[in-house]
Amino acid sequence: MKYNFDCLYQTMMGMTYEEVEAAVKDNAVVLFPAGVVEAHGPHLPLGTDIFTALNQALEVKRHFELQGGKCVVAPPFYFGGTQAMTRQFAGTFTSSEENIIAAVSDILASLDRFGFQNVVILNAHGDSVQRNAMLKTIVESNKTLKMKSYWVEYEDDAQYMGFNGDEDYLIKIAPMQLDEAFEIEKWPEDEFDIHAAAFETALMLDICPDMVREEKLDGLKPTMLKGDDRRKWNEGNAENIALVPKAYVGDPAGYRYIRADMDKVYEAFARSLYRYFYEGK
Ligand SMILES: [Zn+2]
Repeated sequence: MKYNFDCLYQTMMGMTYEEVEAAVKDNAVVLFPAGVVEAHGPHLPLGTDIFTALNQALEVKRHFELQGGKCVVAPPFYFGGTQAMTRQFAGTFTSSEENIIAAVSDILASLDRFGFQNVVILNAHGDSVQRNAMLKTIVESNKTLKMKSYWVEYEDDAQYMGFNGDEDYLIKIAPMQLDEAFEIEKWPEDEFDIHAAAFETALMLDICPDMVREEKLDGLKPTMLKGDDRRKWNEGNAENIALVPKAYVGDPAGYRYIRADMDKVYEAFARSLYRYFYEGK
């Protein structure tokens, strides 16, 4: 029996040590996809964030190299952390902040030892535990390692996400053109569409359609979280599980009116990274 490991072959896992040495000599930028294994409703697989992070990394690498840059993709980091309600569901693995910091620090120290100079973390999991752990790791690693680690945000989101904008580890990406990424015929019924809902389902249908259980989508009701309910979702206490009984937040059935096409988004993303590393802006 042969299995298809194609997307892993295209990361450093498919390279030899000599090829890694050559990439270091070429001063390749490392893209490091990070996510978590987490319940994504009855219709999407637990690895959705890993698949989207890995797809993003491989697509950004492709465009970055078409523009003339050198790039490698590190093995993806699976075992992140989840504070939100999905941690109450079977299949959601969650690590503590200190364990994420320890694991990711060791990975960055390894990349530094190989001789790489720049690594960009591409994090597909927005949970607070994960973000805080990653940002702390970047700041601490940049104090001790020769290699520089970077976090990326869309320029127009940076302030809202809590950055001053002048952090030396922050790369600001040109704003994402939502209308280029998604053809939206009708907005989802619940516009607070943040987890395993219309947009993420449409995205998965674009990048790995075989993984979407379309037959499960009929009859999934929108969650309609408002005000305090959103805080309760983020806190993830079991007593409030009725707010998100099927591990999604938003309106998954709204995927029918949305078509994702991420190609232009990843091309623009790669162009911003290229400008940052090769043109110093
Ligand atoms: Zn997700």
